[in-house]
Amino acid sequence: MKIVVGQGSCGIASGAKKAEAKFKKYIEENNLNAEVTISGCIGSCYLEPIVDVIDENGALIRYVHLTSDKVERVVREHLIGGKPVEEYLIPESGRYFLEKQTRIALKNCGIINPENIEDYVSAGGYQALKKALFEMDGDQICREIEKSGLRGRGGGGFPTGKKWVQVKSQKEPVKYIVCNGDEGDPGAFMDRSVMEGDPHKMLEGMIIAGIATGAQVGYIYVRAEYPLAVHRLQVAIAQAEKAGYLGEDILNSGFNFSIRINLGAGAFVCGEGSALTASIEGNRGMPRVKPPRTVEQGLFGKPTVLNNVETFAHVSYIILNGAEGYRKIGIEKSPGTKAFALTGNVNNTGLIEVPMGTPLRTVIFDIGGGVRNGKSFKAVQIGGPSGGCLTEKHLDMSLDFDSLTKAGAMIGSGGLVVMDEDTCMVSIAKFFMNFTEHESCGKCVPCREGTHVMNEILDDIVNGRGSIDQIDLLLDLADTITNTALCGLGKTAASPVVSTIREFKDEYEAHVIDKY
Ligand code: SF4
Repeated sequence: MKIVVGQGSCGIASGAKKAEAKFKKYIEENNLNAEVTISGCIGSCYLEPIVDVIDENGALIRYVHLTSDKVERVVREHLIGGKPVEEYLIPESGRYFLEKQTRIALKNCGIINPENIEDYVSAGGYQALKKALFEMDGDQICREIEKSGLRGRGGGGFPTGKKWVQVKSQKEPVKYIVCNGDEGDPGAFMDRSVMEGDPHKMLEGMIIAGIATGAQVGYIYVRAEYPLAVHRLQVAIAQAEKAGYLGEDILNSGFNFSIRINLGAGAFVCGEGSALTASIEGNRGMPRVKPPRTVEQGLFGKPTVLNNVETFAHVSYIILNGAEGYRKIGIEKSPGTKAFALTGNVNNTGLIEVPMGTPLRTVIFDIGGGVRNGKSFKAVQIGGPSGGCLTEKHLDMSLDFDSLTKAGAMIGSGGLVVMDEDTCMVSIAKFFMNFTEHESCGKCVPCREGTHVMNEILDDIVNGRGSIDQIDLLLDLADTITNTALCGLGKTAASPVVSTIREFKDEYEAHVIDKY
């Protein structure tokens, strides 16, 4: 018998470590033949601590909210008595939450032990690496990734294969693979969950990118505020090196590839490519003017593939199933799946992965279980501080790169913050502008000064000191910042304000009309 205690950050925060300790204690005291192990987060953060009891035949019983005070009863009635404790079992809505998803990046999260490479290998891990090493050359790998239509999951949606081809074609012999794990959007935790729950999948994608482009060194840039992710990456790298999947002469193929971890200090702007590479180089993390682009002169001035965690987590699936197999999921211009962090006023909060093109309504009402406390849906902020808000009229819209851009929002890294009827949209806009002003690196005037002035105006409006003219001034400033800021942070800084004015102008007016 196996007891799997979910230990992503959410599980640990809910008391999973204490529950694990209690299981170990009672199993030892009762001399039971049961192994206690851990997994990452399965995505149902709202049900943590989650514990799976798996019998010798592989049958799985899932318990939720299983805090340490409930463990003794599970041991007594289920492990010893053979009868699961109905009261603690996962509710039907919880099962539905998982069944409605299609998982590629998150497939092993919550299932395997992220600190045991053998679990990953048993789940088919490193098979894609073997295929890439021994059955394909760099051109074939790049072509397969290009044909798959995989687009970067970090926000921009740039075609991944195109990026790899551009790096491969550079004459420079030294090249780098960089994984962006600097996820900084408020409400986003997709990359953290992959790093905590299935770190080898990301490493495998990076090594394959190295084979494809001729790079021999990879860097993972991960924020220091993700200590569990950092720990599990360190463990995974050490285990992969020991098993021969990383290091010199990988699997006796003659190919060398090493991976280093670089800790970021949590600056949102370091998610931008040139700021990120500057930070790894030991410089202040500030964006620079482009060109040259990262694929030509990236890290240490060398051609660099820069993709985020989730993007690398799609690579092994594409190599094993082929571009055609990958394209069967999702839609023509956005194939594959996308992970979303579902938070805010929604019943089922957590991490989900669905085919690109899934309607917003399915995500919020079917998988998310609808708005909390029976309240009505008002809006959802998608894409964090760079994104925009979608309202009831967008509920049947397809969630994919192009549809969201058309609607004036963006997929971003995949944060979805659901808001109910009681939410003040001006306050929401102010929250995001406050965040962006704080995170602006200050290099260029439109962003540094513009976000500050917009934040001051929003503060006036929220606190009843604003005038109707200031709403127009916000739109003017938004236009200027969007068109003149140097990097993506500044160019998208005004998006939450513009989209809330577009959809909820009456709320802005109500704040100022009350005063005058
Ligand atoms: Fe820095 Fe903002 Fe300019 Fe980007 S747009 S370089 S974050 S000041």
